[in-house]
Amino acid sequence: MSKHTPMIEQYLRIKAEYEDAFLFFRLGDFYELFFEDAIKAAKELEITLTARGKGEDRIPMCGVPHHACNGYITQLIEKGFKVAICEQTEDPAAAKGVVKREVVQLITPGTVMDGTTIQEKENNYLLSVSEFDHHQFGLAAADLTTGELRVTLFKEGLEDVIQEAASYSPKEIVIPSSFSDDKKQQMGKIVKATFSEEDDTSLHGEMTRLVDNLQEQVLTITVIRLLNYLHRTKKRSLEHLQPATFYFTDDFMKLDVHSKRNLELIETIREKKKHGSLLWLLDKTVTAMGGRLLKQWIERPLLDRIKIEERLSLVDSLLGHFFEREALKEQLREVYDLERLSGKVSFGNVNARDLIQLQKSLERVPAIFETVHRLEHPFADNLIDRVDQCEGLKELLESSIQEEPGLSITDGDIIRDGYNELLDEYRDAMRNGKTWIAALEQQERAETGVKSLKVGFNKVFGYYIEVTKSNIASLPEGRYERKQTLANAERYITPELKEKEALILEAEEKSEKLEYELFLEVREQVKGYIEKLQQLAKVISTFDVLQSFAEVSEDNHFVKPSINETGTVEIVDGRHPVVEKMIDQGDYVPNDISLNQDREMLLITGPNMAGKSTYMRQLALCSVMMQVGSYVPATSCDLPVFDQIFTRIGAADDLAQGQSTFMVEMMETKHAVAKATDRSLILLDEIGRGTSTYDGMALAQAIMEYIHHHIGAKTLFSTHYHELTTLEHDLDKLKNVHVSAAEDDGEVVFLHRVVDGSADKSYGIYVAQLADLPIELIDRAKIILEQLESTDQASAAQDEMEPVQINEKKSNHQDTPESTGNQVLETQGQLALFDSALFDAEASEKKVTDMYTKKERDVLKKIENLDLLHVTPMEAIQTIHELQQKLKKHS
Ligand code: ADP
Ligand code: MG
Repeated sequence: MSKHTPMIEQYLRIKAEYEDAFLFFRLGDFYELFFEDAIKAAKELEITLTARGKGEDRIPMCGVPHHACNGYITQLIEKGFKVAICEQTEDPAAAKGVVKREVVQLITPGTVMDGTTIQEKENNYLLSVSEFDHHQFGLAAADLTTGELRVTLFKEGLEDVIQEAASYSPKEIVIPSSFSDDKKQQMGKIVKATFSEEDDTSLHGEMTRLVDNLQEQVLTITVIRLLNYLHRTKKRSLEHLQPATFYFTDDFMKLDVHSKRNLELIETIREKKKHGSLLWLLDKTVTAMGGRLLKQWIERPLLDRIKIEERLSLVDSLLGHFFEREALKEQLREVYDLERLSGKVSFGNVNARDLIQLQKSLERVPAIFETVHRLEHPFADNLIDRVDQCEGLKELLESSIQEEPGLSITDGDIIRDGYNELLDEYRDAMRNGKTWIAALEQQERAETGVKSLKVGFNKVFGYYIEVTKSNIASLPEGRYERKQTLANAERYITPELKEKEALILEAEEKSEKLEYELFLEVREQVKGYIEKLQQLAKVISTFDVLQSFAEVSEDNHFVKPSINETGTVEIVDGRHPVVEKMIDQGDYVPNDISLNQDREMLLITGPNMAGKSTYMRQLALCSVMMQVGSYVPATSCDLPVFDQIFTRIGAADDLAQGQSTFMVEMMETKHAVAKATDRSLILLDEIGRGTSTYDGMALAQAIMEYIHHHIGAKTLFSTHYHELTTLEHDLDKLKNVHVSAAEDDGEVVFLHRVVDGSADKSYGIYVAQLADLPIELIDRAKIILEQLESTDQASAAQDEMEPVQINEKKSNHQDTPESTGNQVLETQGQLALFDSALFDAEASEKKVTDMYTKKERDVLKKIENLDLLHVTPMEAIQTIHELQQKLKKHS
């Protein structure tokens, strides 16, 4: 067994404490990585893997230069890894033996403060979860870049915690080590974040301030777990965090992850892009803080009618004050990110230019408040009257920091003249000295007659007088002292010049030092304003979001919704705001929607692509928009406040999660059915598609009956099972509506208009035609359909007997394989049955039950149910692959 060198021993000792992080081990000008870390990092960062040592002792190694390490660290963090920075903590020259080294910082996805991982209009949340007796869970969330710290409690188990956690889109979640793998897995399935462990929940000194106002021990523990993790990783003070605030999740509309995704509130389903989402549509904010607040609002629509009406009424007021709104927007544009600036201040990584941004922003505040005041709106006044404009801070910055300060905080050029007497004295000395030297050149030229004589400066020799070789002869003897000889010139000094130089340099050094001290002093004073700054930031971003709502409403002709307590939905000419935006102007067909006590559920039928899903989402989006305080896309709109919205989509594509799509569909439906109340909105979009026809229909009907009898939630149910429309007779609060289509000379035209009653046809073949399937195939499908429709009528009475006949024939053929095909396919009727199984699962279900094995029927059904217009080529290949596997199994 070979023994490692003392340095590698040291490395291994340190690495053992940071198992789950890449250890960046400082060696001279490089950070080196060894062993597994090196192999992994070389791959992730695409850098060269080398080795240290020889023969058996060779150790895999790779490294990055310390001055260029940020880019590499960012790359790793973006991929969800952690990086431990290990520095030399003593001077290598003075060290006896191996230089002392220590991890000075652990950088993790949830604790980064800057770099490209931080998005302007997004928060960067770190969460902590704690588990207590009786299925209680605490959840705390912190954003280090803004100082926000929030905590809430759940009394009913993990599911709600996961949903709430997901709403933060956290980068990292801190859990106790006792957290079971099973729970971690459940959470990890929904929330894509890095997990970290922290077991220390004891209160350390400076944390008291942050948890003082929490009433319950469980909340305190939850927050402290997070704080201790931060303390351990950042090894910096936590003073920029605001005291933890408690919030009730019950104050907000519940929207689970699936619903948010289905409704594309924050990002689109397919591309996971903001473009095309509700957030994208509503975002005309002009500040980064406003952008973040808007996202928070959309994640958490309100339930309190008063608060919703407050926001709506402010939007109304902004719409009525065009000039004020334009002015406000212009003024807001000049406000920098106050939240992140104050985060930087207290974290200690602010520079003078940041402080200038802060000052410039504060200078805009009086004008902003003045503009808001001109709205003459009591809520607006109420908001601005509550906060401090931070006049004092603005004056401090105006008097202390130069208008265009240097980037570095240690090289001077930061503090204004007149701010500090001593600094002014140093600067005078510097300026006097420099004026004297500037005058020297003229004076010496005159006295020596050498016109090309120059006074210059360099770092090594300081100030000098330079004379070209050809002029040296005309210099009076002994006038200067020679200092340096160049190829074609000599450089000289005089005692007086050196004296002045010493004064200048001394003053310069002293003033730089003093400026740094003064800067730190100013920064300390700014810290005193952080809480006020953060309150100010909230108010400013609130107005930014509201002006954004006003602008979007005006541009898109939205209308102010009214709120009722009766549970009535009455929307006239409603639109889907995003679809409307995506298609050509004026092409969108508006639709009414009406629900009330006697009309709680709508069963929506209509051809594929007719607009069923769009119609359903239209209602959900109007509700979300209203409850965040925005106007809605309609000509008039009266809505109740919904406590929860559930949207479920049949046969959702969840291959990525490794669950059968039908299982997912049913699980999602279960959550909806279990949690919905009579104040909820449920959208069930073609639920039951993912299984066989009868199964699916039976389930769909049972689900509707259950909601009808036991929940009473407002429900929209779209289906392609026409058979379900007869439910209208049995469920008195259910009504049929359908999206109409018209046939025009053999071509189908989707009218996208929703009308009462049920649809008569499903137009599947026309959709196939639209999808550009081969014309030959389409024509064949039409023939088969006709045959089916006629056989269907003729044989309706014989349905029961058919399978038996086929069965007999089939067994006959097995005896004489040669003649098989032809005999079965002889008659037209049989041919239709055989082929149509590919196109019509129902027919196969009814009539050819035994011609195929169960597995084959399943495959056929899958093909039938494939929604070709909504799968990507990759997904199609994946599906074919699965079907093939299925057919191959056991055969
Ligand atoms: P379905 O759910 O019935 O299959 P969708 O709701 O997915 O149909 O709508 C299909 C497409 O039809 C949409 O992507 C949209 O382009 C268009 N569409 C839907 N509703 C309307 C409408 N009211 N006005 C105009 N186009 C619409
Ligand atoms: Mg649909």
